[in-house]
Amino acid sequence: MPRDPLRPTTHSLRRLHRIALLLATAGAAGLAGCGGGPQSRPSEGPANAPSNPAAEAGSPQARDAVVAPSTLPGYDRKGQNPTEGWNDPRWLDTAPVILISFDGFRWDYVERYRPPAFLRIASEGVMATNGSMPPFPSKTFPSHFSMATGLWAENHELAGNTFWDPERREMYRVRDRDKVEDGSWYGGEPIWVTAESQGMVAASYFFVGSEADVGGVRPSYWYAYDGSVTGEEKVDRVLEWVRMPPETRPRMITLYFPNTDDAGHGYGPDSPEIEAAIEAVDGYLQRLLDGLDAIEGGEEVTVVLVSDHGMYEQPVELSHPVDVSGMEGVMIIEAGPYGAFAVDGDAARRREVRDAIAVQLPESIPVYLREEVPEELHYSATRKVGDIIAVPPLGTTLRRTTQSFAAGWNPSPFNHGWDPRSPEMHGIFLARGPRLRPGGRLDRVRHVDIYPLMAEILGLDPAPVDGSLSTWDPVLVPAGGGR
Ligand code: AMP
Ligand code: ZN
Ligand code: ZN
Repeated sequence: MPRDPLRPTTHSLRRLHRIALLLATAGAAGLAGCGGGPQSRPSEGPANAPSNPAAEAGSPQARDAVVAPSTLPGYDRKGQNPTEGWNDPRWLDTAPVILISFDGFRWDYVERYRPPAFLRIASEGVMATNGSMPPFPSKTFPSHFSMATGLWAENHELAGNTFWDPERREMYRVRDRDKVEDGSWYGGEPIWVTAESQGMVAASYFFVGSEADVGGVRPSYWYAYDGSVTGEEKVDRVLEWVRMPPETRPRMITLYFPNTDDAGHGYGPDSPEIEAAIEAVDGYLQRLLDGLDAIEGGEEVTVVLVSDHGMYEQPVELSHPVDVSGMEGVMIIEAGPYGAFAVDGDAARRREVRDAIAVQLPESIPVYLREEVPEELHYSATRKVGDIIAVPPLGTTLRRTTQSFAAGWNPSPFNHGWDPRSPEMHGIFLARGPRLRPGGRLDRVRHVDIYPLMAEILGLDPAPVDGSLSTWDPVLVPAGGGR
């Protein structure tokens, strides 16, 4: 195997000084061909710095060579990243994993639109030919957080894009920045928290949960969500992270693109607009792959492509009004591809309200008490899912009676959030890297299986999860083994 600059080797100090300069100025214009070597933290680094053989050897020039992470863009200055931007020496040999989410990229778009960069990942690596099954509900926040934590929504507690916490008596909403950035709303252990807690630097250019101090921990680098940041800017920052010297290089990296969800809601899975959005994100992926190709050893980087859910038509004829205005202590939390209601009252009252809602809806829409939700939906364990849950069939929706066309209500013609067992709700899974068999194919995976795979590839000790590593047995190359 050729020498791999993503692994530590010996190199000249002059070279390291150049790297430091590049990072400090143009932002790491390229480490291709430059070996990163064991380095020390700068002398102003924190006292609990992991020990480093080179540091112990004590070369003053070496101490200046690596730019302090706290001076780099995206660094979390709130000090909630346990590594403080420095990898424990045991990770110096570990190649990065880049987890990339394309919002609303339905499982069948790969075969249907054949985006070249996605097809390259499929041929170099592994693909789930029938996609990846989200948790219930198949909405952006719960779905992403199931991939990040390996848990169903009932266990990671991000019960929806909007949900009610009956203990706090507060609503979580994705547009409420204070809540989105408040780790006390998030359960489980996202993969970047596992990494940081075990001394491995993590970085995120957006991913649900990465902006919050989950369990008190954030990635070393993260950004508050901003839909106007261009794809190129995000990809270029990720490439800068990969080019950083081994001591500070993030090993767990996330990236997120909203384009396909936006086009899907507006125009649907069969439209020229979705085709254009797929072409755009394929271009971003191509840019990333070109960047990795230009780095010696870039093929050691594991690239994982996922999406949170699919997309399907929601005709207005299949939208059913639900009215709780005459019911005391009852609140609609969600009314759309699924319904969630909070009830103030005891078990008898909840049953009464369940029945009063069910009679307003067609028989095709089952209405459950939280404890009656079918086990396969994994949506009962926390009160944050609501006291009453309605699960319409694919395409059928609930709506509030205040949502009327006369009053200017104009919903997207396409949506997601339905029962995740419907194939139309499935996202994608494709990945390539040294631990993944080229051309490996799986039928269908689940979002909850993705955390254990990433933890295995990175060599992290995984947190307890609902997903299973054995899902990947047919396509996983043993650690240290050849292909
Ligand atoms: P959905 O309709 O459930 O697919 O939601 C998609 C939208 O979620 C995107 O268009 C973004 O506007 C938004 N979004 C995605 N990630 C974040 C985030 N980390 N913080 C806030 N909003 C986000
Ligand atoms: Zn989404
Ligand atoms: Zn969406």
